[in-house]
Amino acid sequence: MNSQHDESGTLSILRVALPCPRPSCFDYLPPVGIRREALQPGQRVEVPFGPRRVIGLLWDIAPHARVSPARLRRALRLLDPSPLLPPDLLDLLHWAARYYHHPVGEVVQAALPALLRQGRPPAWREVRRWFPTPETARGCEALDRRAPRQAQALRTLLEHPQGLAETDWPGRPSLAVLRRLEARGLVRCESGPDPGLVPAPPQVPAPAPTLTREQRAALAQLPERGFACHLLEGVTGSGKTEIYLRLIAQCLERGRQALLLVPEIGLTPQLVARLRARLPAPVAVLHSGLGDRERLDAWCLAREGRAGVVLGTRSAVFTPLARPGLFIVDEEHDPSLAQQEGFRYSARDLLVWRARRLGIPVLLGSATPSLESLRNAREGRYGHLRLRRRPGRSRAPARRLIDLRGRPLEAGLSAPAIAALESALAAGEQALVFLNRRGFAPVLLCHDCGWLAACTRCDARYTYHRRAGELRCHHCAAVRPVPRTCPACGSQSLIAVGEGTERLEAHLAERFGPERVLRIDRDTARGRHRLEDLLRRVLSGEPLVLVGTQMLAKGHDFPRLTRVVIAGADQALYSLDFRAGERLAQRIEQVAGRAGRRERPGEVLIQTHFPDHPLLQTLVREGYAGFARQALAERRAAGLPPYAHLALLRAEAPAQEPPEAFLAAARARLESAPMAAPVTLLGPAPAPMARRQGRHRAHLLLLAHRRTALHALLDHALPTLEALPEARRVRWSLDVDPVDLY
Ligand code: ADP
Ligand code: ZN
Ligand code: ZN
Repeated sequence: MNSQHDESGTLSILRVALPCPRPSCFDYLPPVGIRREALQPGQRVEVPFGPRRVIGLLWDIAPHARVSPARLRRALRLLDPSPLLPPDLLDLLHWAARYYHHPVGEVVQAALPALLRQGRPPAWREVRRWFPTPETARGCEALDRRAPRQAQALRTLLEHPQGLAETDWPGRPSLAVLRRLEARGLVRCESGPDPGLVPAPPQVPAPAPTLTREQRAALAQLPERGFACHLLEGVTGSGKTEIYLRLIAQCLERGRQALLLVPEIGLTPQLVARLRARLPAPVAVLHSGLGDRERLDAWCLAREGRAGVVLGTRSAVFTPLARPGLFIVDEEHDPSLAQQEGFRYSARDLLVWRARRLGIPVLLGSATPSLESLRNAREGRYGHLRLRRRPGRSRAPARRLIDLRGRPLEAGLSAPAIAALESALAAGEQALVFLNRRGFAPVLLCHDCGWLAACTRCDARYTYHRRAGELRCHHCAAVRPVPRTCPACGSQSLIAVGEGTERLEAHLAERFGPERVLRIDRDTARGRHRLEDLLRRVLSGEPLVLVGTQMLAKGHDFPRLTRVVIAGADQALYSLDFRAGERLAQRIEQVAGRAGRRERPGEVLIQTHFPDHPLLQTLVREGYAGFARQALAERRAAGLPPYAHLALLRAEAPAQEPPEAFLAAARARLESAPMAAPVTLLGPAPAPMARRQGRHRAHLLLLAHRRTALHALLDHALPTLEALPEARRVRWSLDVDPVDLY
């Protein structure tokens, strides 16, 4: 009994976050021989869990156990002599688990690289780098006859005065040989992290442009230290990234690290190159394409402070930093910054919280800020900086609505749209047709009996992919060959209705020649390198008509692009989701922003059957800022976010009835809980796509004017839901501040 007490006689109980969906931690006794002083939250421990051993994170140390002493087991070993995570990150995880009402174990899982979850030490791989010395040239001659292969190796090194990493040196001599050459002073060796992950910064950073007046004014208002959150609202191409670069450089000069979050990295190789060319410190990039080993390396380099800058997608919000000095979120409005499966969180909101906890500045940048951030700026919680024009002679492109009513269309394009593409090509420039629908056609139907090719597992139609000869469901992984005849009536007249990017590409290739048309979407850009090849072709500047999905909407800087056609805007205008209008306005503005980024003026044509729609009218006349003003007024009047706070309780099951039954029982629980301020419950109702991947889905929406009331209710009622008998028949989850209701 004594061994579970420390010197002062109190019990030390480890509260351990384990990888399992239970809401709270598990209690253990410390490992044999481990004293209280050696224990700190943030260390990993291995514990027995049922018949298995698992690795968890020490979350807290408590004087009392919450289980009976008989059931208390002893942890097996402590993996880390000191905490793996710095205090600010531990606090962030604590806060996130509470705010998102999510099991702590899963929150920890999301924050740790896979190899750390498996118990590997937090250390990066050493890669040797070989350098020539002043003796190398002489050695070359001396060795030429006796050891020509060694002489050849020395010659290779002479071509690399900056050194050559072992990983980049195929056909290098064996380590023993290199060591012998080193002993003779003919080569020099340095060990360091993989230069593929953190290339050495340039000796002479790329030159920086002279700031515009607006940029200078914005920078002057941004503090170098202390917590402050600013929204940088700058039209596309106005030089926001240039401001990030200056701020990061200042931060590095103070000896601190900067963390920059972006929605997607694979789509913007230009940004990575720009940061690395300009900044005098190693830039580590954290994205989903990294292998486990590379991810751990980059994570450790950030934690040790070797990476001066970390650029990452949403999960990089959990990167530990030795000397944090600045946080930036680019495209802060983008839904990809929110994790929408499992542990659902907003990386932007978490980063702002973390900046406040650390007392450092955070900057949110966008050409089309979210209404949430705009409200915060309006009410003074965030500073608001604007960049209204592009530097130099580049101007925001002119926007024009094309009334499609009654017009003949070719593959969905009107005559003015085709004429715009034609004139771009004739001028040796590039044009972009934006259509956010992959595949050849969204519908395949039988002309004789009306049969529609529909997914059997989702409430969705198959998309017809002609080149692949397949029908694909874009909501699940279902793929099937295209039938030759109608499965219902045997007719051979199956027709493809509507346009996808593949059909548009085919049509334009016929009109302008295949060498003048380039489609960029997830189907043509499989794998990261393919996308880079496609983008390189665009950047080469040859006259081209690009056909693309939202993959082309974000961040790219195409100097020769002057015309943009937005092929179909109408679907979102009448969507049930209250955010559809905001998303459409953001997308139009972002796509439009690809045009005319240099001297040549740009033109944007928006095709619609609803040219009088107020959203489109405001957007064309007043731009995004005008749209946002109007949208905020509407949201306030309707009592919707950002003037209300939402949580969405989702349930799904193979059968139709259990999700609704569970949500009805949940609703009863919520209604009987004490409410400090009103929380409106809407539902249960079928989800907008009621069946997906073979599962029936239903929702219960919670809406409150006051965030605290919503969270108090969830705190009170949520823990009781798992015990409902109806819970056993469904999979359920909670989404706090959901980004879509889909
Ligand atoms: P954003 O991030 O707002 O889209 P960028 O920072 O990428 O804008 O700037 C758009 C283009 O303008 C880039 O090619 C950039 O190099 C250039 N640029 C930015 N600031 C200036 C400036 N002050 N003077 C000249 N060119 C600039
Ligand atoms: Zn038929
Ligand atoms: Zn499907």
